[in-house]
Amino acid sequence: MTWRATVLTIFPEMFPGPLGVSLAGKALTSGLWALEARDIRASATDKHRSVDDTPAGGGPGMVLRADVLAAAIDAADTARSLPRLLMSPRGRPLTQSGVRELAAGPGALIVCGRFEGVDQRVIEARQLEEVSIGDYVLSGGEIAAMALIDACVRLLPGVMGKAESGAEESFSEALLEYPQYTRPQTFEGQPIPEILTSGDHARVAAWRRAEAERLTRARRPDLWAEGQSGRKNTTEG
Ligand code: SAH
Repeated sequence: MTWRATVLTIFPEMFPGPLGVSLAGKALTSGLWALEARDIRASATDKHRSVDDTPAGGGPGMVLRADVLAAAIDAADTARSLPRLLMSPRGRPLTQSGVRELAAGPGALIVCGRFEGVDQRVIEARQLEEVSIGDYVLSGGEIAAMALIDACVRLLPGVMGKAESGAEESFSEALLEYPQYTRPQTFEGQPIPEILTSGDHARVAAWRRAEAERLTRARRPDLWAEGQSGRKNTTEG
């Protein structure tokens, strides 16, 4: 079955956008995944086609209406076959293991918030799982949805050139990736590290592992600590 992204947004014209080029774009064209961007506004019922209203209790901005959004969700996923996500800075942080899990499933129905967010009642009534792409605030969920979709699509079978190119990269073992080099051999007086051109595969592997560990300890002590137990298990098992 084709991996399917159904996106609910008030700006469907933003899609496929960057998802229509390069790796994801080629995979979309060749049918390795499918994308449907649906306009939430199509589910508005009043004559002004309004999707938002002022927040109960006062305060700035506008809130996406529960009734309109619920109708849009119900119209989009009648089979209720996809995990239902809401892009939200309050959500569970998106990680590479979360991405792997989503990519292994049938796809996702993704709701993009706008303005101050969405009415809490629709989150509960439609059991939307809130997902955040980081501790900063975007003006809407569309770019966050694109980030999530892009991360999933590149892991789908047949999308990346080499099957193993996903296995060694950042976060696959709670490690950041080692530094990469390519031609020219010397750039502004800096040569490629000698080991990498030695042809000694075991030394290359050991160097890359040591560099990945050094970078992770220095830049992401949190990730290093989190990976400690898992890494020990991998070498033992
Ligand atoms: N007032 C809200 C922010 C609303 S931002 C708050 O303080 O939590 C408008 C919309 O952008 C959100 O509904 C969400 O869909 C999206 N968005 C903003 N930042 C995001 C993030 N870090 N991750 C995922 N979605 C985000």
